[in-house]
This record gives sequence, C-alpha cells and structure tokens, in this order.
Amino acid sequence: MNTAYVALGANLGDPAATVLAAFAALANLPESRVVRSSSLYRTAPIGITEQPEFVNAVAELKTTLAPETLLDALFDIEERFGRIRADKNGPRTLDLDLLLYNDQLIELPRLTLPHPRLHLRAFVLQPLAEIAPDLAIPGRGSVSAWLPAVANQGIVKL
Ligand code: ADP
Ligand code: MG
Repeated sequence: MNTAYVALGANLGDPAATVLAAFAALANLPESRVVRSSSLYRTAPIGITEQPEFVNAVAELKTTLAPETLLDALFDIEERFGRIRADKNGPRTLDLDLLLYNDQLIELPRLTLPHPRLHLRAFVLQPLAEIAPDLAIPGRGSVSAWLPAVANQGIVKL
C-alpha cells in the first residue's frame, strides 16, 4: 500500500462545495481510500490577483494505483467536476495536484514528484501540516520547517 498526498483547489462557482465534492470523488477512486482530509482553507490568489479567492485543501490517500495512473485518475476528476457546463471551453473550477507519492522522486514530462512548488505555497503547506505535521518532503526537509517561509501568504482556515 502506498501513501499519496493530493492538493485540491477551486476558485469558481461555489469553491467550497466543489472541494467537498472532489473529496467525495477521491474517496470513490479505485484501489484507493482517503485516510485523512484537511480542513478547507480560503486563500488569496497569487499572481493574477483580479480573480476570486481560492478554497484549498489536501487529502492523504492509501492506494495501489501507480503514480501515473493516479495522476490520470485525478485528471478525470478535474474533467468531471472542473468545467462550467454552460461553456464548453470554460475555465477549470477544480485543480488537483499530486503532491507526494511515498518518498518517490519522479521527473517525467507530465509528472514531477514531489510537486515542484509544494514547499513554496501556504495553501498546500498549511493543510498538509494540519494532517501530517511530521511529513518529510523528499530532498527538502519537513513540511513544518517550510511553514515560516510562507507566513506572509494570506490563508484562513474555514
Ligand atoms: P497548475 O496545477 O500548476 O496550476 P495544471 O493543473 O494546468 O497547472 O497542470 C499543468 C501540468 O502539470 C499538467 O499537464 C501535468 O501533467 C503537470 N504536472 C507535473 N507534475 C504534476 C504533479 N505532481 N501533479 C499534477 N500535475 C503535474
Ligand atoms: Mg494542477
């Protein structure tokens, strides 16, 4: 059995409802179960600030899906939940990122593990620290050790 961490993020429609629905979708993945879910967090957008606030969370999965199979399953969920139906090419409402898969280091064109920006984002680190404070990011140290570096990013636990 493998341990994987997934980041959930949404900022269109009803983002909190989307994230809760995405948790349910993760729970329905084959060969997998969700063993921990973080609280939901409201976070200020980074980069383009002229857009709605995000709701973010993370989940810990136990899975026998291989990393790339899991990534494809996450993309499927994004497809199912992540588009505004009224507009075929509308913006994505849901982003699912694979953060960690055991302590694996992977460099593939479509999959980098650990997720290359996870240690720089309060909206990932803070929910991760909530459910797995002692977790190590392979090659980078503990999740908790990175938290002070992102303390200036606006994030509120809902
Ligand atoms: P972002 O998550 O950075 O906002 P996207 O969700 O559009 O952007 O993802 C962009 C690309 O990142 C995808 O095509 C995917 O193949 C790639 N990718 C690389 N590593 C990962 C990972 N660990 N988790 C999710 N996507 C990843
Ligand atoms: Mg993504």
